[in-house]
Amino acid sequence: MFEKILIANRGEIALRIQRACREMGIKTVVVHSEADREAKYVKLADESVCIGPAPSAQSYLNMPAIISAAEVTDAEAIHPGYGFLSENADFAERVEQSGFVFIGPRPESIRLMGDKVSAKQAMIKAGVPCVPGSDGALPDDPKEIVRIARKIGYPVIIKAAGGGGGRGMRVVHTEAALLNAVTMTRTEAGAAFGNPEVYMEKFLENPRHVEIQILADEFRNAVWLGERDCSMQRRHQKVIEEAPAPGIPRKIVERIGDRCADACRKMGYRGAGTFEFLYENGEFYFIEMNTRVQVEHPVTEMITGVDIVQEQIRIAAGEKLRYRQRDIVLNGHAIECRINAEDPFKFTPSPGRIVSWHAPGGPGIRVDSHVYAGYFVPPNYDSMVGKVIAYGATREQAIKRMQIALSEMVVEGIQTNIALHRELMVDARFFEGGTNIHYLEHKLANKPDLPKTPGPKS
Ligand code: ADP
Repeated sequence: MFEKILIANRGEIALRIQRACREMGIKTVVVHSEADREAKYVKLADESVCIGPAPSAQSYLNMPAIISAAEVTDAEAIHPGYGFLSENADFAERVEQSGFVFIGPRPESIRLMGDKVSAKQAMIKAGVPCVPGSDGALPDDPKEIVRIARKIGYPVIIKAAGGGGGRGMRVVHTEAALLNAVTMTRTEAGAAFGNPEVYMEKFLENPRHVEIQILADEFRNAVWLGERDCSMQRRHQKVIEEAPAPGIPRKIVERIGDRCADACRKMGYRGAGTFEFLYENGEFYFIEMNTRVQVEHPVTEMITGVDIVQEQIRIAAGEKLRYRQRDIVLNGHAIECRINAEDPFKFTPSPGRIVSWHAPGGPGIRVDSHVYAGYFVPPNYDSMVGKVIAYGATREQAIKRMQIALSEMVVEGIQTNIALHRELMVDARFFEGGTNIHYLEHKLANKPDLPKTPGPKS
């Protein structure tokens, strides 16, 4: 096992990884920007290295600075967390070429899955069902594009091969709007992701977002750790996640989970990973794979008892997976609310100094957060300041506990979306379970006392 790991991330996930390391008796090095000098996890680390000024491009995305920090501190492995360089195959390669272990999949796997066109092709080959769509990237010939759309049937969605973070997608309802939408998405994709390639999928009208967590080792052993329902989204960004997905027959979930684990064995995938699907009318359709730990991993940890971050570290150290599929037993229900520093209904960011921070507690409540009273939320990064996770023997109990937790929680000095979460926890449709990916947008748009937010791009 490693003696020292460098954490190449910030915020709650830096603290989460640090806690996993401490439990395993591994020393930690935290790299941080000038803006994160005061962070709690920086003080708790065995060593810390400032790698640059606040802008991510000069700090958390600065590959040479991170690798130099590993060199000077004698770290053996680098955990990239999520976001930043976590799905950057070039970074994984440079880490390994510099003699360190990258805690994540092989660079080839990251590269294959990072391009959504090649990822879909790999999934089709591995027997994972995908959203019907173009066979690879769209060609230049407009006639051919029109023909592909007719074959798929409207509405269709044009998606960037290199897209991520809910960006680079455009829904098209009519043939008249098609070619313009393709051109615009190509231009945006070129500018945002450095890759103008786009592809086409059937636009599913009322799907749920359901994803499968997997763990796989170096030796082609793989298990899946149940599913998560992340349908409560705004602008394609997850707001609430839960596990298991309410109301989906276990047989159907088991079939897709087994397919995912099998695909990992076939592809020689190593590490933790998530297969993201849209689920509609009893069918799963693959949309993308994330080759890293997810923000929402705690809900899976709560219902399986598996520490996903520790398993990532064990796998990277070359250990054999400690679980077989029959060891993975789902117990109870868990819900996660992402707490963001933003106006709860206008969604404008609200960075600044936190004056008071009272985190909830009690049975079944877990709070993953790096902030505290007096902490300054820098304006430079993602607005998430923490996650509240509620566990219960049943979904009803998890909701009840979340309601209590949110009612106890006090954050002053910045605005947060806690008010929105409180409202969603008493929403009758959410309580029934199984709302689709458009539910939150529609709720926000139709609520007279809330400012309207634009619907999905069209
Ligand atoms: P990203 O990598 O940007 O997160 P995804 O491919 O995972 O992009 O899609 C993000 C979200 O966009 C999905 O959770 C879903 O809400 C919506 N979406 C993507 N593809 C489709 C589709 N074919 N039909 C309907 N909605 C889609």
